[in-house]
Amino acid sequence: MTATYKIAVFEGDGIGPEIMAPTLRCLDHVAGGKYHLDYRSLPAGAGHYEQTGDALPDSSIENARASDAILLSAMGLPRVRYPDGTEITPQIDIRLKLDLFAGVRPVRVTEGQPTPLKLEGREIDFVLIRESTEGLFHTQGCGEVTQDYARETLRITRKTSEDLFRFTFALAEQRRAAGRGIGRVTCVDKANVFRAFAFFREIFDEVAAGHADLTSDHAYVDAMALWMVEKPWAFDVMVTENMFGDILSDLGAGLMGGLGLAPSADIGHDNAVFQPCHGSAPDIAGQGVANPFAMILSGAMMLDWLGLRSGNAEMVADGARLDAAVRKVIAKGDVMTRDLGGSAGTDTAAEAVLSAL
Ligand code: ATP
Repeated sequence: MTATYKIAVFEGDGIGPEIMAPTLRCLDHVAGGKYHLDYRSLPAGAGHYEQTGDALPDSSIENARASDAILLSAMGLPRVRYPDGTEITPQIDIRLKLDLFAGVRPVRVTEGQPTPLKLEGREIDFVLIRESTEGLFHTQGCGEVTQDYARETLRITRKTSEDLFRFTFALAEQRRAAGRGIGRVTCVDKANVFRAFAFFREIFDEVAAGHADLTSDHAYVDAMALWMVEKPWAFDVMVTENMFGDILSDLGAGLMGGLGLAPSADIGHDNAVFQPCHGSAPDIAGQGVANPFAMILSGAMMLDWLGLRSGNAEMVADGARLDAAVRKVIAKGDVMTRDLGGSAGTDTAAEAVLSAL
């Protein structure tokens, strides 16, 4: 019997639906009947809030929780806000509700990719893990502001940090086994200035002690920002706090030639969301010009994660095939979307990926 996987789909706002549709076509194409991806479209987002007053219905989050994996394109619209003026960000609420503590941000630059760096034949392939449920985002939306001062709280817990570091070391093992990494894990912090980061680093060292076969080291976040530009090829897996990770992952997207090529995953013990690093790009929504590559690459990450988790080797191979097809289109360079300096529309770019498959 063909295995069926329940996939929760949040099309979201802005360009969200435009990049989700071709991604599902690509996923179905690689699955090719070997297994069935049963998509369930779930309402959420700023548009949904505008219509109903609810940005993330309970039924959507419960359906997502019960699914095998979650695909999310982009949510939020600058003009739609809560009464207190803050933006609608159900994508962040989902991370908290499903305890998706590990934000996985692969930074890869392969042939033909429009990186601003001079790589001289070298490729970049490292993964940044951003803790996604605490850190400086702990008081998001409820920071204290008075006439004279404002205060937010950075929170690091032992439990989440241990889960995060275990996940990180397991990923480094997995990458090394797949011939993708040298087995090096770097903890990125500011332990020289903040006690909370010294605590973070201490827990990292405790978990690292159980992985003597891997190399582990530390870097201060400011130095890492420099090294990601100076010698990004030297890193394998790095792990950091939420706010540092937020900033460094955009730097990573810059190395990759822009947000349109940056996929991501937010992973917990029981659930995982796969979504591009970019937002809903309302400035280009509805024009058919959005770059679908980051969303398709996120779909490939989903196949890899779900295949490994469910012991489906064909699915893991399909994830690699889909990823390679996008990279082949980029390397060829004749079908590029506007953000990459070309003129291809969303559908033409997605068709090129299907042809490459
Ligand atoms: P958020 O805060 O929700 O992450 P943002 O404010 O950083 O979003 P984006 O929505 O990511 O902004 O858009 C930033 C710029 O990048 C915009 O000019 C947008 O048009 C462009 N952009 C983002 N994603 C894409 C894409 N997939 N294809 C083409 N251009 C994109």
